[in-house]
Amino acid sequence: MRPRKFWGWGYQDERISVDERTALGQIMQFHLPGMELHDTPEPELDDIALPAPRFAAPDQFDEVLSADKYERAAHTYGRATRDLIRGMQRDFSQPPDYVAFPESEEQIAALMEWCGHSDVALVPFGGGTSVVGGVEGGRVGETRAGVISLDMRKFDKVVEIDSISRAARMQAGLFGPALESALKPHGYTLRHFPQSFEFSTLGGWLATRAGGHYASVYTHIDDFVESIRMVTPAGAMESRRLPGSGAGPSPDRMMLGSEGAFGVITEAWMRLQSRPVYRAAATAKFDGEDGFLRGAECVRRLSQSGLFPTNCRLIDRQEALFNGVGTGEHTLLVLGFESADHPVDAWMARAAELCRDAGALLPSEAIKIRDDSGKAGGESESWKESFLRAPYLRDTLLLLGVIAETFETACTWDAFPTLYHSVLERGGAALNELCGGGRITCRFTHIYPDGPAPYFTVLAPGKPGQMLEQWDAIKAAVSETLIACGGTITHHHAVGRDHRPWYDQQRPVLFAESLRASKEVFDPKGIMNPGVLVDRG
Ligand SMILES: Cc1cc2nc3c(=O)[nH]c(=O)nc-3n(C[C@H](O)[C@H](O)[C@H](O)COP(=O)(O)OP(=O)(O)OC[C@H]3O[C@@H](n4cnc5c(N)ncnc54)[C@H](O)[C@@H]3O)c2cc1C
Repeated sequence: MRPRKFWGWGYQDERISVDERTALGQIMQFHLPGMELHDTPEPELDDIALPAPRFAAPDQFDEVLSADKYERAAHTYGRATRDLIRGMQRDFSQPPDYVAFPESEEQIAALMEWCGHSDVALVPFGGGTSVVGGVEGGRVGETRAGVISLDMRKFDKVVEIDSISRAARMQAGLFGPALESALKPHGYTLRHFPQSFEFSTLGGWLATRAGGHYASVYTHIDDFVESIRMVTPAGAMESRRLPGSGAGPSPDRMMLGSEGAFGVITEAWMRLQSRPVYRAAATAKFDGEDGFLRGAECVRRLSQSGLFPTNCRLIDRQEALFNGVGTGEHTLLVLGFESADHPVDAWMARAAELCRDAGALLPSEAIKIRDDSGKAGGESESWKESFLRAPYLRDTLLLLGVIAETFETACTWDAFPTLYHSVLERGGAALNELCGGGRITCRFTHIYPDGPAPYFTVLAPGKPGQMLEQWDAIKAAVSETLIACGGTITHHHAVGRDHRPWYDQQRPVLFAESLRASKEVFDPKGIMNPGVLVDRG
């Protein structure tokens, strides 16, 4: 495998050039005037020291366990800003003791049994792109005799395709690009594209209930599941392949979002789609100070129109400017429709009417119908490129001393204006107090007939040596606001360890008790990813 960076985004051999770094620094000085840039070098493996494993690997797992320095470092954290900051500070004081690379369910079951007897925590690891502390097993600290990170990369096959029902049985460790490459020759796609697509896995998507980048209808991994297989310390559990079923609560729903707390998802039958051929894209603009809220009202009408756009990204003017897709004068609404079956011009024409009725600037020439390359072109494509490039730039921003991170939530339309204003106000106050300034921008990632999923991006000057504390305090202030305003602590990033304080407030008490009871059934010794989602009773 081409080695990935042990601390940041991308491959080890992909370095941002000095010129790019200088250009990014100049852009930041424009967006955060007066900020003093840092110049932290990228961490190298030789810069860091790891504590020795706390226990000797049993002989029976000689072929499965690794204590290799690179592997232990690369499995210490996920890819949240707090992870990157600690990586940048060369803090790898709590790595897993070993990394396991099983290739069969039998090996997983044997590891579970051994960990149960030996009081060692087992932390499932897909691509390690968690942004909520989901793979940070080291945080169990001294409460356990040790931690093993269980990497699923050898479960990397599309096992079977049923072209009559249009579904495929796929292993959980498949990364996004490999999964799509295996389906492409058959004319299919899973059509699930989270921003982290390149470095995340099917098992991770299922375990976190990931959201793809399409704005409406089929975009969540939940909607593509036909059946799931999970190995738990109490045995294996597999749901029946069904297009739908009213037979009681769904076993799939028990495994979806289980975050490795109940067991390891090894494979799933997933519904496929034909590859889209017809596309249309347009960018509507809203001017003025209140452009974002007027745009939100337009999106509300679109979301309730039954048109279900594939792209419907409302981007405030500062964020549009920062992403290089606007001049900073207008809030943008990047709209798109696509289909494998029929032209979508009529859908786009009706959406354009709705936008204009809501006060948007949308001249006919701003509507692009599919070009020969299959891409719709225009701002829609620039947006996609900048969207995929963003995680690479975030590492460099942190090295330059800029705190760059996001919050995501969802709320009903009636709650949205208050939530929006409160986050800007409370978050803005926290930035002033903790960083002496900074800014919060907003866009919608997903839309529903009853509400949007707003996504806030923070950019703020970090203080040398204090960025982690600064970020944790900003995160706490905004998270409290989200819960107080009726939002969810996460729309698609999962709970992990980092969201637990707010998730525990959000979920009903009886539901928490039933989750605890389930944990006892699946994982009676409490070895599976302790600290995420739910604690044992
Ligand atoms: C730059 C960036 C962009 C992102 N964009 C998106 C986005 O657009 N949409 C979105 O939903 N999320 C996004 N995320 C968050 C993250 O990519 C998702 O949560 C993703 O689903 C995690 O997949 P993974 O394979 O990396 O899982 P990991 O990070 O390895 O694990 C995530 C959690 O799932 C558990 N787990 C992993 N594999 C298994 C398994 N086989 N069985 C049981 N449990 C398992 C882990 O223990 C952990 O709790 C983004 C993250 C980053 C850093």
